[in-house]
Amino acid sequence: MTADTPGWETVVGLEVHCELRTATKLFCGCPNRFGQEPNTQICPVCTGQPGSLPVLNRMAVEMAMRIGLALHCRIEPSIFHRKNYFYPDMPKDYQVSQYDQPINIDGWLELPSGGRIGIERAHLEEDTGKITHVGGAGRIHDASHSLIDYNRAGVPLVEIVSRPDIRSAAQARDYVAELRSILVATGASDGKMEEGSLRVDANVSVRPRGSTEFGTRAEIKNVNSLRSLVRAIEYEAARQIGVLSDGGRVTLETRHWDEAGGRTTSGRTKEQSEDYRYFPEPDLVPVAPDAAWLGRVEAAMPVLPAARRSRLAQATGAPGEDIAVLVETGLDELVLAAVAAGADARTAVNRATNEVAGALETGTPPPPATFARLVKMETEGALTATQAKTVLADMLRDGGEPEELARQRGFEALASDALADAVSAVIEANPAEWERFKAGEAKVAGFFVGQVMKATRGNADGGAVTAELRRRAGI
Ligand code: ADP
Ligand code: MG
Ligand code: ZN
Repeated sequence: MTADTPGWETVVGLEVHCELRTATKLFCGCPNRFGQEPNTQICPVCTGQPGSLPVLNRMAVEMAMRIGLALHCRIEPSIFHRKNYFYPDMPKDYQVSQYDQPINIDGWLELPSGGRIGIERAHLEEDTGKITHVGGAGRIHDASHSLIDYNRAGVPLVEIVSRPDIRSAAQARDYVAELRSILVATGASDGKMEEGSLRVDANVSVRPRGSTEFGTRAEIKNVNSLRSLVRAIEYEAARQIGVLSDGGRVTLETRHWDEAGGRTTSGRTKEQSEDYRYFPEPDLVPVAPDAAWLGRVEAAMPVLPAARRSRLAQATGAPGEDIAVLVETGLDELVLAAVAAGADARTAVNRATNEVAGALETGTPPPPATFARLVKMETEGALTATQAKTVLADMLRDGGEPEELARQRGFEALASDALADAVSAVIEANPAEWERFKAGEAKVAGFFVGQVMKATRGNADGGAVTAELRRRAGI
């Protein structure tokens, strides 16, 4: 069985946990910082000491509002609940979360390929600590002991819950990729899936194609890259199709994605919400952003990826895949600025998509004006495409000016070739003037220099043009 077995349809709804980039935690003043010594970013509040009281972080609320606006949600008065369960990474034995009155409800996200995925809610909650199982394969079953780091406990999260509108693994990947760009654009997230600042749970079910009812779902945990997300959904859909085709039933349960084994394994059967004994958190007041605050947040919203894509498409006419790469990598600003500085749009897009985007991990993009000069050197023929790529690679690695780097690499040979070509073309187009120049009419030299300048858009050296004209005329 595979996920695209004819006659079956995959249905996916995603729950994405996004750690907010606030300076401090959700209910205390502890730093919200990743990668510190374990249990050094903690206090009585985030470790749940008796008698400690939470104070809501205003900036976290503001970031949640930005996320809501970016996802076209309604922003509503909201309250916090206690979600009660026992787990050693959560010292309070309850998680403070928003339940039936979340801050953001009823929005949508538009996929770059078109089509909208509904957003049920995007609510605020606190993160838990982190357990590391030592010994064995890192799973609790064969561990010799476990270590707990509470630095993450109380870090602010927004959980974004999609409607079950997603119909394939590829669409799920596109949704998360677009959501990540949006979250990064709002400044609420650093988007680092590998550091756990974005974590995805995938709810997957299958149904006979044409059916209007949903099948029973499984919720897959521990998916921490886009690649794993695609693999996990495809595996799980195929598994469920197999179960149902054999006359079996899918169990409502959480399943664990096993990256090495390439499969999902059964976890716990899913709790119903009654199991959590939700009740309103008595130590926090309701959150009700007033119109003035909401207005300020709205006014300060950045341009979001969808708008950036259409702006870039309009300015460059580049193909959709290039536009998507440039906006996702944040290089759209570089290209727009280079084009504004006079660089050819298509060449700027090509160099940014192929060379700059590929080197972002190891190099630093040049300032727009410098990038524009490199692009101009290529379009004006001072550098071939291959030479321009080499010079750009130098710029990305070490910085520096394109003219200087081209000289260091001995690329000016081409400049004189390009000059010679331009001189030939101008001579050919103006035979009468050329005869007068050869006959010794020195002032015609000015005419030829002007023509060559025009042909090379001012890039030629006047003295070099005169010297070339003299050489050819034998004078
Ligand atoms: P829970 O609180 O148990 O996680 P929710 O009703 O909040 O359950 O749903 C969680 C997620 O599951 C949502 O993203 C939703 O879109 C998705 N979902 C619900 N039903 C299905 C289904 N039959 N198939 C796939 N996804 C589903
Ligand atoms: Mg859930
Ligand atoms: Zn604290």
